[in-house]
Amino acid sequence: MSAPQSPSKPPPRPMLAVAEARALMLAAARPVADTETVPTLNANGRILAHAQVSGMNVPGMDNTQMDGYAVRAADCASGSAVLTVSQRIPAGHVGQPLLPGTAARIFTGAHIPEGADAVVMQEQCELVGNLVTIKHAPKPGEWIRRAGEDITNGSVILPAGARLRSQELGLAASVGLAQLAVKRKLRVAVFFTGDELTMPGEPLAPGAIYNSNRFTLRALLENLGCEITDFGIVPDSLEATRSVLRESARAHDLIITSGGVSVGEEDHIKPAVEAEGKLNMWLIAVKPGKPLAFGEVKDAFFLGLPGNPVASFITFLMFVRPFILRLQGASGEIAPRAFTMRADFDLPKADKRNEFLRARINAAGGLELFSNQSSGVLTSTVWGDGVIDNPPGTTISAGDMVRFIPFSELMY
Ligand code: AMP
Ligand code: MG
Repeated sequence: MSAPQSPSKPPPRPMLAVAEARALMLAAARPVADTETVPTLNANGRILAHAQVSGMNVPGMDNTQMDGYAVRAADCASGSAVLTVSQRIPAGHVGQPLLPGTAARIFTGAHIPEGADAVVMQEQCELVGNLVTIKHAPKPGEWIRRAGEDITNGSVILPAGARLRSQELGLAASVGLAQLAVKRKLRVAVFFTGDELTMPGEPLAPGAIYNSNRFTLRALLENLGCEITDFGIVPDSLEATRSVLRESARAHDLIITSGGVSVGEEDHIKPAVEAEGKLNMWLIAVKPGKPLAFGEVKDAFFLGLPGNPVASFITFLMFVRPFILRLQGASGEIAPRAFTMRADFDLPKADKRNEFLRARINAAGGLELFSNQSSGVLTSTVWGDGVIDNPPGTTISAGDMVRFIPFSELMY
């Protein structure tokens, strides 16, 4: 039987699990539809609008992987064949058909001449005058890169929604794509609430702190290729918050704020968003983090992050980043990937929330924990290589396997 509830005390609001909150957000996201064409050289970080099909084989022709001699393998079966050097083929040139009993001097990347079916590396050959002794019996195909072994003509090389990193750009260029259709950049407005906030470079008044979230958040958004409008510091007042909200809702896809999302007297985000749009205030079973405001103001989505610097950072990585990727139209895995690794520490006290513990990979290939896991300790984010995703109510003993999300998974 459950205990009777006192009428004056409402039951605590249920907390959402991390995956539940993320799923709710992703389900609401409307990916941007507009596309533009940009030079492949300038497409780093963009999201591909359409699948790309190769119009050619890569390599385009059989070519040599080594500097050496192109031969007919059957001519060299003795392991000491003496052949006449009939021609010289540098990369970028096409040779003549190779006659039996002859060899072609050839250089890495050069086209294999018709009739040749193997390359013998120069270290296994000895040239005297115009005769070369081939001191190796090659197998047919040896050191030959076959036409189309990387990409075949007509195959899809990149899907719609691919995030264009260095690797994708190189691949697109390798099939001759000079331009790419990409999604337009996401327009993100940011502002930072708090009367205590001061910009670095300005003197700190008693009780003031530096606005570190502005720097963390903007860099995270830049890494994701967003177009940022920064409305700066907004004082803790309902009117000021409402006014910046109205302005930032214009011509932006997303508004992100830091601080003021609790329900204290100085927390104006909730009433301001409710007045200008609509809002879900979620308590998420996450540590650090917990309160996350998700809503809409006019045509812009709204995300209110907690003010505590580490909470704000973790909330961004776990919720905001996947949401932005979805808005950008990115395909593939959107939630951060976790890798199973060994804990080299004890966590004897379990938390009832899903904890994201700042940890570092040690020389033995295990994980060590930062000593202070408090939500204001930014040092932990610099010291750490990533976070351990520790499910609610889970203690950890040295030797246990845990889920580790490296920061490298999250940064772009
Ligand atoms: P709040 O979420 O506004 O209640 O703030 C929680 C804590 O985070 C307080 O200690 C604030 O001073 C701090 N904080 C809020 N905004 C920022 C910011 N932009 N940069 C650094 N710390 C902040
Ligand atoms: Mg505040």
